[in-house]
Amino acid sequence: MYWHRKILLVLVCTLFANCATILATQPSTSEIANALCQNETAAIDVNFPASRANNCQIKSATSLTITIDPENKPINSSAWYAFRVTPRQEGMLSVNLKYSHAKHRYPPKVSTDGINWQIFDPLKIDKLSEDEIRMHIRLIDRPIYVAAQEIFSVGVHNTWIDKTEKLHFVSKSILGNSIEGRPLYKLEARTNPNIKKPYVVFVGRQHPPEVTGAMAMMPFIETVLGKSNLAKNFRDKYDIILIPNMNPDGVTNGNWRHNMNGIDLNRDWGLFTQPETQAVEKELRRFENGGDEIVLFLDFHSTWRNLLYTQSDAEATRPANFTKNWLSAVETVINKKLGKDVYKFTREQNPNSGQPNSKNYMYMTYGIPAITYEVGDNTDRKFIELAAKIFAQEMMKNLIEWDAKND
Ligand SMILES: [Zn+2]
Repeated sequence: MYWHRKILLVLVCTLFANCATILATQPSTSEIANALCQNETAAIDVNFPASRANNCQIKSATSLTITIDPENKPINSSAWYAFRVTPRQEGMLSVNLKYSHAKHRYPPKVSTDGINWQIFDPLKIDKLSEDEIRMHIRLIDRPIYVAAQEIFSVGVHNTWIDKTEKLHFVSKSILGNSIEGRPLYKLEARTNPNIKKPYVVFVGRQHPPEVTGAMAMMPFIETVLGKSNLAKNFRDKYDIILIPNMNPDGVTNGNWRHNMNGIDLNRDWGLFTQPETQAVEKELRRFENGGDEIVLFLDFHSTWRNLLYTQSDAEATRPANFTKNWLSAVETVINKKLGKDVYKFTREQNPNSGQPNSKNYMYMTYGIPAITYEVGDNTDRKFIELAAKIFAQEMMKNLIEWDAKND
């Protein structure tokens, strides 16, 4: 199923009552005074979290050009943008999106409330070149958000964290602070603190534009923390650590890739030069010799298509063969329950190259399966969620079985 056939995207934050407060829909007068540019038809501003548009030039009463720059160079081509168009009158506005250092990547999404998003009609987009498109936007009586993906702000993360913390066996703590002082939250699920159990560790959002990874992480974790007998049995055997948002500054500043020191956090594992990775490393020390046990590490990301970067089968892990068994079970269940073509994924056996990313570091340090869970940028949102639940269920089954064999 192609992304453009699914017009309505409902952002996961519709689940949360106070979500509407995350994006103020009506910009204040001062925000409009701080507009990047304005003409008699509309004003363009970036005065909200996760925004990015670096320059704006009026071309005529009904057309303008917005330039999008990365936070730093060189950088991966994850050309994030997010801006708001406040109409002065109804009618059509042509907006050129021009990238200074990348190709156009993300099909624009639009929203009037910051909660419900739609893919902008591809028929109203002209592709002028690899690095420039023109959108023909119909202005209505309200401001319109335009973004590379649904805006998944720090506020959305934190609302979900607070909701999850309400489970009686979950506790929230702060591992440290980002460069700009935002807390790096950890959730830990332990159903019986008197019993020492092995841990499964999850992290997310090292790379800010990778929203579809976060859209998978939440239903995955909710399944593991859920009320099913499978989840209860799993939590009898295992404890869970989750660090949902490792790069809150990058998310808030609309970064393409880096933290505020211009560092790719997923190239800093083992080096641990940044406050964000240092805070996580400090937490992971509990798994050093004689401490707690870790059996699995998953890191949620997004890329061009659904895939999982794993160890190769030639690289021994403990549990042995987990990855192979897990992913083949997931594929069978997805095909059976969801259908053959709705969530295709590949396993990319990706032997340790020495690159200091989370997967390599966690495998090298602990000998465990350490996996990057990548979700396609344009994968149908409904199937991201449904597939994530199946990935979670099969992970739990596999680890429960392994535990039984090890007794
Ligand atoms: Zn990534």
